[in-house]
Order: sequence, then structure tokens, then C-alpha cells
Amino acid sequence: MDISGPGDLWNPEDFPLVIAGPCSAESEEQVLRTAYQLAAIPEVKVFRAGLWKPRTRPGAFEGVGEKGLQWLEKVKAETGLKTTVEVARPEHVELALKHHVDILWLGARTVVNPFVVQELAEAMKGVPVTVMVKNPIIPDLKLWIGALERVYAAGITRLLAIHRGFHYFEKSPFRNAPMWEIPIELKRLVPELPIIVDPSHICGRRNLLQEISQKSTDLEMDGLMLEVHENPEAAFTDAAQQITPEALHVLLQKLVLRKRTGNPDFESRLEVLRTEIDKLDGELLQILAKRLEIIDEIGDYKRDNNITILQMKRWAGIITDRLSIGTNLGLDETFLRKILNLIHKESIQRQTNIFNKS
Ligand code: PEP
Ligand code: MN
Repeated sequence: MDISGPGDLWNPEDFPLVIAGPCSAESEEQVLRTAYQLAAIPEVKVFRAGLWKPRTRPGAFEGVGEKGLQWLEKVKAETGLKTTVEVARPEHVELALKHHVDILWLGARTVVNPFVVQELAEAMKGVPVTVMVKNPIIPDLKLWIGALERVYAAGITRLLAIHRGFHYFEKSPFRNAPMWEIPIELKRLVPELPIIVDPSHICGRRNLLQEISQKSTDLEMDGLMLEVHENPEAAFTDAAQQITPEALHVLLQKLVLRKRTGNPDFESRLEVLRTEIDKLDGELLQILAKRLEIIDEIGDYKRDNNITILQMKRWAGIITDRLSIGTNLGLDETFLRKILNLIHKESIQRQTNIFNKS
């Protein structure tokens, strides 16, 4: 994708782009008071507010809708902050553009549906607006990239992605599991695409925000979108994860911003260590290939002698033995179990293929 970068939004060298504002706009006073307090924090460049809220069940507060757009116009005129809203229907796009919203964003529930994404992209066609695309709620990188491509194909080149975590069935301290490997893979595939992290929707509660914001900048993510409310406890939506403007200021001051590259001495030492890693990875792969070759040999042997593939006693023995060796070497037990299981799964697959060939 030929993305035109952050434009006049912010200088990525200075600080991560900070977008802040309430989960939902609730009243004109709330919006303006919050915006004034945020405008006093130099790092904050964009004011967010949800006007059309995607709620899990009907009957909950569904946002103030169209009338909130006038409040956002005031925010822009009076504080100089840029503005952003979530759009979920083509009418939202039309209305937001009519009221000069600077950035539109597609929410996590919208991005799971290519039909809706396509409709929204068409409503934006040819308009020089900046668009942010949140990850879909399910951990599917292709779906996320697909949505970005649909928007891009509509001629939108000022494009950003927002990482807001993924729905996850297992117990986790987060509302939405960060699964950092997914945004990192997105960065690898589309390096020119800025990724903004939304710690509020990842954490779901205030006390984890600092840690996730720090991790975002340590992983070279390009910005932060945080939900800020003048009275978080009383917020109509997402009360547990919102913070006051003051708390946002403290959070940003506590962030340790690290350099992306070091001086020549640092770089050359790093190069030495990386060369060592490359060599070890090569050896690791050779050993793995050799192990699987022997697995194939055993497969042939078992098949020729009519013996079953899985032999539980042997497998249980391997686990106990390798866990003991591995943990003595300082390796983490969960990590060891994952690796052993993967290798075992692959071994069984290869032997199954051998059996099927006979
Ligand atoms: C939001 O940003 O308020 C929101 C609804 O987020 P998401 O689409 O990530 O759930
Ligand atoms: Mn929210």
C-alpha cells in the first residue's frame, strides 16, 4: 500500500500520537470541558468521542448521535484539537464529513463484516479524509488487512490501524487479549502503516493502562488512543477503563520513551549478538529436521510391523524427561510444554502420512 504517512497529524519522531477523549459523548458540557482539559496536555493532538455506540444488548445508552457532531465542531474551533469519531453506517460517514470531522474510525465490530466495511469505504470514496481501522474482535489478521485494503481501494491513503486487543476465551487479566504478535506481523507486512494502540479497550480497567501504554511504545507502536472522562465513575459507557484528564497527563509523563536506534557502538555489538542468534537458529532448524527424519524412519518401521503410531507411555516419558532437562537449563515450563506439544503433533502428522501411503 502506498500510504502517505501521518501528514500533518503529528511528527512520529517527537512522541507517539496521542488521541484522547470520552468513550461516548454525553452532553455538550462534558465534551467541551474534557476537550479543554485535554488541549492543555501538549502531547494530545486528537480528541475522540463515540456518537453512535455499538452496544452488546439493546436498551443500553446508544450514543447521542448526530447532535454530538456540533459539539465536536466546537471542540475543533475552540481548542484546535483534531477530532475523530467511529462510523458504522454510510450515513455516519456523510454526517461526520459534513461536520468537518478530521478522522473517521471503523470499530472492532464493524471490521468483522466485509459487507459493511465495503459500504463505508464507498461512502468515503474520493474524500481526502484520514481513516483509522480497528482490528476485528476476533484474532484474524487477514480480516484486519482486508478492511484496510477496502478503505485504501476507495482512495484513502491517509490510513492508520488501531490495535484494541482480541476476544479471547481463556482467562486473562485483559478485557481483550493484546496478542502482540498480530500487530507486530501487521507492521512487518505493511511497514508504512502507523499503528495506534488503544490500551483502554485492551485493559478494560484503569490499573493496567500504564503498563500497556509502555509496552506499546517499547514495541515501536506509533501512538496511543486512551479513553478519558471528566468523571470516569459516572461515565455512561466503559466506566471501569476511563481515566481523568489529570490521570492521562500523569500516565504520559511516566512513559519512558526509548530511541528506535542506538549509536554506532551499540549497533555493532547488537550486530554481533544477532549474528550469533542467526547461527543458533540455523543449528536449531537442522536438528529439528534431523529429528523429523528419524521420526519418519520410526514411522516406516512401525507401519511395516503393524504397530500403532501413538504410544502413550513413550510420550509421557518424553514429557517428564524433557521438562526436567529443560527446566534445569532455566527454560520456562509452559514454554517447554508448548514446544514439546508442537513437535509431537508434527511427528504424529508425519507418521500418519506415512501410514496413509501404505
Ligand atoms: C470505542 O472505541 O469506544 C469502541 C467502541 O471500541 P471497539 O470498537 O474497539 O470496541
Ligand atoms: Mn469504549
